[in-house]
Amino acid sequence: MGLLRSGCPERARAAVEAVAAGRPVVLVGDAGRAGAGDIVFAATVVTPALVGFTVRHTSGFVCVALPAEACDRLGLDAMHPDADGLDRGAFRVTVDLNGTGTGISAAARAATIAALGSPASVASDFTRPGHVVPLQVQPGGVLGRPGRAEAACDLAQLADLPAAGALCEIVSQDRPGELACGAELERFAAEHDLVVVHIADVVALRRRSEPQVRRVVQTALPTVHGRFTAIGYASIWDAAEHLALVAGPVDPAVPVHVHVECLTGDVLRATACPCRRELDDVMRRFAEASRGIVVYVRPAGLAGACALRRAEIDRAEVDRAGVAATVQWILADLGAAPAARPEPVSAPRTRARRSTSGRRAACPPASSPRAVRVSSPAPPAAPRR
Ligand SMILES: [Zn+2]
Repeated sequence: MGLLRSGCPERARAAVEAVAAGRPVVLVGDAGRAGAGDIVFAATVVTPALVGFTVRHTSGFVCVALPAEACDRLGLDAMHPDADGLDRGAFRVTVDLNGTGTGISAAARAATIAALGSPASVASDFTRPGHVVPLQVQPGGVLGRPGRAEAACDLAQLADLPAAGALCEIVSQDRPGELACGAELERFAAEHDLVVVHIADVVALRRRSEPQVRRVVQTALPTVHGRFTAIGYASIWDAAEHLALVAGPVDPAVPVHVHVECLTGDVLRATACPCRRELDDVMRRFAEASRGIVVYVRPAGLAGACALRRAEIDRAEVDRAGVAATVQWILADLGAAPAARPEPVSAPRTRARRSTSGRRAACPPASSPRAVRVSSPAPPAAPRR
């Protein structure tokens, strides 16, 4: 997934409450954007004052992140037919709402932004080109791609508002000509009483509040170690598939072992890593005791294979927070993890509308409803010639 930072759901909840209350938040990007940040707010609660504030502190290139269905409904074609790549391909043709004059004033852009977010708008409501830049987000939002546009759109939707998030990069006062990042973003947020939220926080909140897998198959599975019930799961947000091997009855105290796929060890019996031996040992123990669950995790993307991992791929590439979320949802489905249940994200509107300015979310250590034993592909060995 390319998102290595571990997120804080509580910080995302604070941001969702702020967005629901019509306030902007400071969204901090990932390392790939050098920690730059955006002012983000829900498109449908925009005001001319909010656009004025945004333009004063940002690049002024105000974008509105929208799902593909909205871009189709509003006739927002790609900005350039040859645009490729996730970032450049996301840019849609710029627009102004009809009747907004020059289209560039804060009042005009606020009207355009609000119209882009309104489910009642139609393609003929806009003139092209204009002064507001629509961005088409990837399916699944931040769970499909952990990008700034996806996070902006998700925050609006999590706030129980139409899926449309305005965003614009904050510029540096310390280093004229550059984007603000790091401590300057924190200082900016403190000065203006804004919640700071990272893309990884939005990912973490959605992983906690929305199921990450669905059960697709179940069968009895005799093995050399004994009988298991094999239950297959498909990831809802990517192409990954996982397996639970269940011995005996399931209850909240049943021992759990999490094994992350290692093709070379598990299947080819390579001796370069202990993966196969660990898997054999735990399956034997669980089968003998007729008690235990092995969760076999196969993250999407590069096949997990200790002996094949390229030296330049650091162990940190394993998305541990994603694996943990997947395991919790599988255990919840099996009835082995009562702590993992869908949680509502947005507070009831009456509560969410209260002022959330200046709120600083305490971020406790990542909760671990139960201890599980985890084995996963080992760090890459030095390349051999
Ligand atoms: Zn291995």
